[in-house]
Amino acid sequence: SAFGSLGLCPELQFTLQELGYRQPTPIQEAAIPMVLEGHDLIAEAQTGTGKTASFALPMIEQLSRQPQGPEYYPIRGLVLVPTRELAIQVADATLAYGLALGMRVISIYGGVRFDNQIRKMKRGADILVATPGRLLEMLRQKKFALDHLEFLVLDEADRMLDLGFIHDLRAILSFTPAQKQTLLFSATFTPAVEKLTDGLLNAPERVSV
Ligand code: AMP
Repeated sequence: SAFGSLGLCPELQFTLQELGYRQPTPIQEAAIPMVLEGHDLIAEAQTGTGKTASFALPMIEQLSRQPQGPEYYPIRGLVLVPTRELAIQVADATLAYGLALGMRVISIYGGVRFDNQIRKMKRGADILVATPGRLLEMLRQKKFALDHLEFLVLDEADRMLDLGFIHDLRAILSFTPAQKQTLLFSATFTPAVEKLTDGLLNAPERVSV
C-alpha cells in the first residue's frame, strides 16, 4: 500500500485501511519517512492536513519495534498540546492507530480531578498526551518520570506559546533525557516559535505544507 512504501508495518497499513485512509496526505508523505529515519523535525502544518498521523504513526511504528511490559510501561513518547480538547482528540487518534500493535496511550490535562489522572498513570503507558500545566504539576510531585522518553512532540507550538506555556515547556524539557527525537509542529512560525526551536532540536529537517 501507499503507507507501506513510507515504511509502516502491515498492522498499521491494515488499521489505516480500516479507518478509510487511502492515500497519505502531503505532510504524512514528507514526515513519516524522516521520522522513521530518526531525524528531528520542524513542520509547518495547519489543522486538517493530517498532521496528527504524521507524528503518531512513525512514533508508534518505532516504539512497537521494542515492545514493553507486561508489568510496567515507562512513557516513551510524549505529545504536548495546548488544550484539553486537543489532548483528548490526539489521544483518541493515537489510540486508534496503535490499537492493533497493543500501544498504550494515556492523556492528562487540567480542569479535571488530579487523583483520577494519577490513578490512570499508575501502570504507565507507551505514549502520553498532555497539556503542559498539568503535566508539570505531576512531574514536580514526582508522580512519574520521563527517564525513558524516546520521542517528544510539540503539537501546535504557536498556540502553546500564545497561551503562555513557555516557562512550563522549558521546565518540562528539564525532566526529559538529552538523547531523544524531537518533533515540532506549528501552524505559524513567529519569532517566538523560532526562538523555542533554538537548541531544542538536533539538526532538524524542515517540512512545510
Ligand atoms: P489532523 O490534521 O491531524 O487534525 O487530521 C484531520 C482529519 O483528517 C482527521 O479526521 C484524520 O482522521 C483525517 N486524516 C488524516 N490522515 C488521513 C488520510 N491519509 N486519509 C484520510 N483521512 C485522513
